Amino acid sequence: MTLVDSHVHLDHEQFRDDVDACIARAQDQGITRMLTIGTGDGPPKLDCALELAARYEGVYATVGVHPHEASKANPATFDGLRHLLKEPSVLALGEIGLDYHYDFSPREVQREVFIEQLRLAREAGKPVIIHTREAWPDTLDVLRREWSGPGIMHCFTGDEAQAREALDLGFHLSFGGVLTFQKAENVRQAAAIVPEDRLLVETDAPYLAPIPFRGKRNEPAFMVETVKRLAAVRGVPPEQVASATTANFHRLMGCED
Ligand SMILES: [Zn+2]
Ligand SMILES: [Zn+2]
Repeated sequence: MTLVDSHVHLDHEQFRDDVDACIARAQDQGITRMLTIGTGDGPPKLDCALELAARYEGVYATVGVHPHEASKANPATFDGLRHLLKEPSVLALGEIGLDYHYDFSPREVQREVFIEQLRLAREAGKPVIIHTREAWPDTLDVLRREWSGPGIMHCFTGDEAQAREALDLGFHLSFGGVLTFQKAENVRQAAAIVPEDRLLVETDAPYLAPIPFRGKRNEPAFMVETVKRLAAVRGVPPEQVASATTANFHRLMGCED
């Protein structure tokens, strides 16, 4: 099986001592490509993912300001992102969106910074990676008004109706460890109805490790458990989920197989 982890935070301090070993273990499981998210601790540093992409074969980068750090963004931040989006290793802009669970930045600021970044992605012709938590109606509202391009709903944890809304907007849905959690029946129902050509998988490591690793630090190699569960939910072999999600990632990001 060849797999792509479409969302991982390899720059996280929890990987500081063993990122080499994590990437090697992932490759042993067939996870040959990883998209490492460049939001880090927020502005002013914007290029933490590029450093990893430069160092490791098969690791690609994003840039962006997470909604948690929206209040740290200013005009210089957007200029910096505009510049970095031209780098060949930067495949997408993200993760961006709205997080009303923590409200680390005021909601109004989150919305402004989200909209500004959607404009940057449009200008750069890059897909967006959306983070949304307890903010589904506002997220959809912004996307309907401001976005018509490709994108990923990362760590999708909505229900079937929300999945259909995201699909109607043209989005890909990426499933992570939450899919394996006992109480996530609604997420599994959503995963069952996503067309095969809109499906992606991710870890969001170091967060949200799948069962049987739940509660531990997550790492890309653990994604195999999510893939097995997703395959079971969809009634197909894991190899089919692997080949579809890998092809979808490459098509979406405009990179080669
Ligand atoms: Zn997220
Ligand atoms: Zn993330």
